[in-house]
Amino acid sequence: MPELPEVETTRRGIEPLVANKVVAQVLIYNGSLRWPVPQELISLLPGQRIGGVGRRSKYLLFAFSSGTMIVHLGMTGHLRVDSMQTEKRKHDHVEIIFTDGTALRYNDPRRFGSILWTLADPLQHVRLSALGPEPFDRQFNASYIHKLSRNRKVAVKPFLMDAHVVVGVGNIYASEALYRARIAPARPAGKVSKAAYERLIQAVTIILSEAIAAGGTTIKDFANSEGKPGYFTQELRVYGRAGQKCKACDTLVKQIRLGQRSTFYCSNCQK
Ligand code: ZN
Repeated sequence: MPELPEVETTRRGIEPLVANKVVAQVLIYNGSLRWPVPQELISLLPGQRIGGVGRRSKYLLFAFSSGTMIVHLGMTGHLRVDSMQTEKRKHDHVEIIFTDGTALRYNDPRRFGSILWTLADPLQHVRLSALGPEPFDRQFNASYIHKLSRNRKVAVKPFLMDAHVVVGVGNIYASEALYRARIAPARPAGKVSKAAYERLIQAVTIILSEAIAAGGTTIKDFANSEGKPGYFTQELRVYGRAGQKCKACDTLVKQIRLGQRSTFYCSNCQK
């Protein structure tokens, strides 16, 4: 599943390929995504110019003159920009053809992604309005998360992965951030000190930044190629390392399930 760094990399890869282009035609081959692709795009978009591509959580926001197209990649979705001469691929469900002879193609084998349209402020859209702050926002700071977590009995790992708390911290990143911040993942969120949250926020920011930086090398892949950067090669310190030695202290890395998700930690380094 594309996580926030992959979605941000997609944004950075796609934006220069579509910004300021004018739509000539929209073709919907299979509109049965997680929600139906609005058929009105076929008549609405031609003649409109794309201003830029933004992102909120894992949603990409394509700003057109009259509204915003909101794209979520779901489990297997990816975007690429091809020359019209390039043959369409299996699972290319939606194609936005530009007047310069290129096309933005949405490919999604499992079709759990979505393409939505709004005339209003996209941040107020029903899918986006209740989301917590972005991990790189100033609003995501130790005072905020410490205050929000008081009296919460939920374990700190699922708390960190809750999109109402902060968006974009997926399962792998949560395990890795808690390890770097030396916080045991099963500890109740309400029992984590403000100083520990300070370390956790720093760890989350570093890990996501590293993943986005690693994705930077794949940006060329959005034009006339696979269009899927995949997971970025990042050194994982605990995730997937159950039974192996902790890189800091030689204690064997443990694996537990928390909130139905595989969780990896060092019982010596994380308290
Ligand atoms: Zn350790």
